Amino acid sequence: MSSQVAIVGAGPAGLFAAERLAGAGVAVTVYDRMPSVARKFLMAGRGGLNLTHSEDFEAFVARYGEASAWLRPYLERFPPTALVAWAEGLGQPTFVGSSGRVFPAALKASPLLRAWLTRLGGLGVAVRVRSEWRGWTADGAMVLGDEEVRPDAAILALGGASWPKLGTDGGWAEFLPRDVTPFAPANMGVDVAWSPVMQGFAGQPLKGIALTHGGRTVRGEAVVSRYGLEGGAVYAISAALRKAIAADGAAVLEVDLRPDMSVGALTARLAKPRGSQSLSNHLRKALKLSPVETNLLREAHGKDLPAEPGALARAIKAAPLRLTGVQGLARAISSAGGVRRDAVDENLMLTSRPGVFVAGEMLDWEAPTGGYLLQASFATGLAAAEGVLRRLE
Ligand SMILES: Cc1cc2nc3c(=O)[nH]c(=O)nc-3n(C[C@H](O)[C@H](O)[C@H](O)COP(=O)(O)OP(=O)(O)OC[C@H]3O[C@@H](n4cnc5c(N)ncnc54)[C@H](O)[C@@H]3O)c2cc1C
Repeated sequence: MSSQVAIVGAGPAGLFAAERLAGAGVAVTVYDRMPSVARKFLMAGRGGLNLTHSEDFEAFVARYGEASAWLRPYLERFPPTALVAWAEGLGQPTFVGSSGRVFPAALKASPLLRAWLTRLGGLGVAVRVRSEWRGWTADGAMVLGDEEVRPDAAILALGGASWPKLGTDGGWAEFLPRDVTPFAPANMGVDVAWSPVMQGFAGQPLKGIALTHGGRTVRGEAVVSRYGLEGGAVYAISAALRKAIAADGAAVLEVDLRPDMSVGALTARLAKPRGSQSLSNHLRKALKLSPVETNLLREAHGKDLPAEPGALARAIKAAPLRLTGVQGLARAISSAGGVRRDAVDENLMLTSRPGVFVAGEMLDWEAPTGGYLLQASFATGLAAAEGVLRRLE
């Protein structure tokens, strides 16, 4: 009889592990607590499904920050080019967006997931939904729904703790009490005490801006929300903002509304006679500053913006926003925390539970948006599957 492997968590990490194991002739059952599989993957598809990133591999690996060295071998084994080839093998051509991010041409997850589940079915992978994992019995059986299961090996791919309504509430941490760093939101929005006027701009984008915090500057886009700011540029710097706010209770985020122009160039444009125009009109005509941008300047610098062109130019290049908090796990794109690096071996097997492997976002790494989350989930799913194969040998 072939070996039996239980995979818990039917997200990208678990399903990719299932594909590798079933392809090697192992009998695989995938369990998930939700009524259907891969809900977070489908949610990621609503934003176009940014599968991975096309940048140079060294730059790519560096995005994982403190976890780069740990994840490097898994990413080398399954790099971005391999993920692209895999998607294309499932009939989903991809393209590189202007920022270097890679998307499926369909810009959603459902056609890819359909083709993937058909492939897994063809490989004999069994899927059991509405089966929640609730730890182990005293004699080591896995409690899955109302069953007790004794597989030859198991992979836990239970995801992080953001967007709990998609099945990922991090509740599994109670069954691995010694192996887990507490969760924190990652890639989340930040709180700014906007005036009611600024709250009226909720949903409006701030395009082509630069954000600076703690000496680090990121370019990109943010979106004003009622509570503060969200969007890619904020997420890219969100880990440092979360740590600063946790330490000091607040943090300053500096917004440069025109990062492609120097103070001198802005001053020259603003020095043109304003006549009887309002300041808002002057800023709109001279620099195409939108109403949301002008209001952001007022929020940052106070109602009376400087009239002198040089001072006004400097205000546009450095608008300090005082951040009072971060959004919680409920709406964060991902989470920091999870199973610690020192709780698993190089095959991603729990040292406290031989035969049980861990993959995906439930491991303690974090990365910005840009396809890094999915890429590492797939790569660690593959690594855990190959760890299982080595153990079964
Ligand atoms: C709105 C949004 C947009 C995103 N967009 C992108 C993007 O464009 N690009 C990108 O790279 N990343 C994106 N992400 C992040 C990405 O979706 C996740 O990092 C990725 O899905 C993690 O994969 P995973 O397999 O580790 O876990 P998950 O996909 O979270 O899957 C874990 C599974 O485990 C199940 N589970 C949990 N606990 C139990 C239990 N006790 N018993 C049984 N089953 C359980 C859950 O139901 C879930 O199905 C986005 C996330 C969100 C929320």
